[in-house]
Amino acid sequence: MIPAASALLQPPGWQHAWRDAIREPQELLSVLGLEGLVDASAAAAASFPLRVPRGFAARMRRGDPHDPLLRQVLPLDEELRPVPGFSLDAVGDTGALAGHGVLHKYQGRALLVATGSCAVHCRYCFRRHFPYAEQTAAAGHWAAALDAIRADPSIHEVILSGGDPLSLATPRLQALTVALARIGHVRRLRIHTRLPVVLPERIDDALLDWLGALPWPVAVVVHANHAREFDASVDAAMARLRAAGATLLNQAVLLRGVNDSLQAQADLHERSFAAGVLPYYLHQLDRVAGAAHFEVPDEQARLLHERLRARLPGYLLPRLVREVAGDASKRPL
Ligand SMILES: *Cc1c(COP(=O)(O)O)cnc(C)c1O
Ligand code: SF4
Repeated sequence: MIPAASALLQPPGWQHAWRDAIREPQELLSVLGLEGLVDASAAAAASFPLRVPRGFAARMRRGDPHDPLLRQVLPLDEELRPVPGFSLDAVGDTGALAGHGVLHKYQGRALLVATGSCAVHCRYCFRRHFPYAEQTAAAGHWAAALDAIRADPSIHEVILSGGDPLSLATPRLQALTVALARIGHVRRLRIHTRLPVVLPERIDDALLDWLGALPWPVAVVVHANHAREFDASVDAAMARLRAAGATLLNQAVLLRGVNDSLQAQADLHERSFAAGVLPYYLHQLDRVAGAAHFEVPDEQARLLHERLRARLPGYLLPRLVREVAGDASKRPL
């Protein structure tokens, strides 16, 4: 049968799944059988909208208001409470950006804010107050960002970040990496993305063709905070990324009420390894306004990490770190 022209013009599956994300707190709660959950907050959603792909929501437990996946995305009244020490630019990025979407805080590595878009909105995210519209590299069609990287031969690794860089259509990523490939001092590419976890549909053939043809070793740092974020669709996406030659690492954020127990941490790192992903960092929360209720005190974080060290093989122990503005690297706790 010949498909109708309209079928041929359909966007790729992942873009449909992207657009189809749940954006109304009430809809999410009703999908989960949690209508009337009292601490859900329309006011918090107005300042940083809810956004969660349906496939990710499907991994949440129905009827459980404490579900660790739900807690990461549900706007709460508590977010609006000002807490001393929690600010709008917790890691000093606005100052470091220099207007072209490139953050060069650490030796040899430049982080490119490729886009402000994310498939999921994580309530603890330090970028929730970030002035993306002015500050992404894509806003200037990469030219200024590429100039900044070209002008500094000490930059050997380019880190695509955001937002979520894989939210860009593959031809745009391709255009960017073609231009980067002309810069001789770039030797490695790193991609920080939550999409293989929250929207595994994104890891499609076109993306893998692009990835597999890149002229550098590539690390993909995914972002899963809880073992239950993995399912068969995520495992398949990770396997495809590995088959395309990427090294897969996971960074998690330590979050009260989500993954602050020994069991949750051990399960996370064992589960991610089963998907072919090695733990990289366990971040202490960036102290961003609206996220204070997720914070785990440093002493407790250290203790948890020590117990984790005794529990897991060394290669499954993430480095416990905090980002401190002005430091030369992430700071180990
Ligand atoms: C976290 C970060 C990096 C990467 O640091 P690694 O320790 O190499 O993972 C690079 N640039 C910026 C601006 C960062 O925030
Ligand atoms: S940048 Fe990462 S942590 Fe922040 S909202 Fe986007 S996906 Fe979530």
